[in-house]
Amino acid sequence: MEQRQVYLDNNATTPLHPEVVRTLTETMACFGNPSSMHGFGREARGLVEEARSNVASFIGALPEEVIFVGSGSEGNNTVLSILACQSGQCSCDRDHKIHIITTAIEHPCILETSKCLEGHGSRVTYLGVDKHGKIRLDELRASLTPQTGVVSVMMANNEIGTIQDIREIAQIVHAGGALFHTDAVQAFGKIPINVVDLGIDFLTVSAHKIYGPKGVGALYVRRGVRFCPLIHGGHQERGRRAGTENTLGIVGLGKAVELRSREMAEEAIRIAALKKALKEGIVERIPDVWFNGHPTDCLAGTLNVSFEGAEGESMLLYLDLEGIAVSTGSACASGSLDPSHVLMATGVPVERAHGSIRMSLGRENTMEDVDYVLDKLPGIINRIREMSTAYTRR
Ligand SMILES: *Cc1c(COP(=O)(O)O)cnc(C)c1O
Repeated sequence: MEQRQVYLDNNATTPLHPEVVRTLTETMACFGNPSSMHGFGREARGLVEEARSNVASFIGALPEEVIFVGSGSEGNNTVLSILACQSGQCSCDRDHKIHIITTAIEHPCILETSKCLEGHGSRVTYLGVDKHGKIRLDELRASLTPQTGVVSVMMANNEIGTIQDIREIAQIVHAGGALFHTDAVQAFGKIPINVVDLGIDFLTVSAHKIYGPKGVGALYVRRGVRFCPLIHGGHQERGRRAGTENTLGIVGLGKAVELRSREMAEEAIRIAALKKALKEGIVERIPDVWFNGHPTDCLAGTLNVSFEGAEGESMLLYLDLEGIAVSTGSACASGSLDPSHVLMATGVPVERAHGSIRMSLGRENTMEDVDYVLDKLPGIINRIREMSTAYTRR
């Protein structure tokens, strides 16, 4: 019998939705340049603009406020970099000094960009988080200065799933005279987002986290906010992101969003039930476990758990031998021996951070998957703990 495959790494990336595959297949041969004025170009342009409308209406934005970009990482880099640049006249000299506020638990594409801008003379404040991964609003208030250009706080965390109080955060940021950006890559398509309602100035999303293709994302930029491109060249995207549009990727994103708008609400309930069963099953079967993240304000499918005396990489490899795919920390940080910066920021002790895995459920998971994991996991943890000198069962 073929081994069962259980994919529990949907926060790293998701399998393409079969309907996205169908749409991509149908669109593959459409090669026109959306900027061309002839029929070939107009056909491609039509597809790009339809996708733009889908993305815009899904987040309560206007189509002209949506810019297609090459990834979530590019969207995040763009916002921080152009704001650093905007503090002066737009000379795109990144040596302007502005103050940026972000958090200690952001994705590396925010943290590394921030570090880079610090190297160019900007000042960055990294807000801490409480034990559940939420920023403290008082700390945010106290960190805002007249020099603060932008505050970037992720909507939902990729490792522990914690969802921030975005509306309150945006209000505080605006009262302090700064602009508000949120990396919504993990939240988008999982929880409802209305940019007007939440008071968001910039928002980043990515297609491959919502069953769309890789290498395409979108950036929402509120109308009236000054914007200068990160990538210079042609007039694509109203002069805000040069480069011939990735028509196929954009079509895939548009389709994925259309499907999310139909399936999101129902699926969140189903996935939450799967996670509950998984969590309860772990507690019943395995002693000395801790769950990381917020008990209620958490993405439905994200379960981050620490097993005392077990090592994350070992768990990952043993689970992989059983066909179960999980991750330690974020995919982008794997290969590094440092404990997760997110868990460290929540105050988890180093050893426990090393003994953590993230299981992230998605639309293809079933209760049979959960049963299979609950069947395999206790034996694996036992074996690892037996080999460990650090673990003595209480
Ligand atoms: C995956 C991810 C990104 C990066 O998106 P890419 O499209 O892979 O570049 C950014 N932020 C968060 C929170 C993510 O989970």
